Amino acid sequence: MSKSAAPAGTKRRCISCGAKFYDLNRQPIVCPKCDAELADPVTIIS
Ligand SMILES: [Zn+2]
Repeated sequence: MSKSAAPAGTKRRCISCGAKFYDLNRQPIVCPKCDAELADPVTIIS
């Protein structure tokens, strides 16, 4: 079993609405809840 990057990307928290979501390795990162573009997104390490 290889442990490569998760397909969902990195877990983020929207600085605008506080929603937690995965960025899907996309750039720019856009919040799926409020459509805010996160230039400096918060990374959630859990
Ligand atoms: Zn948001």
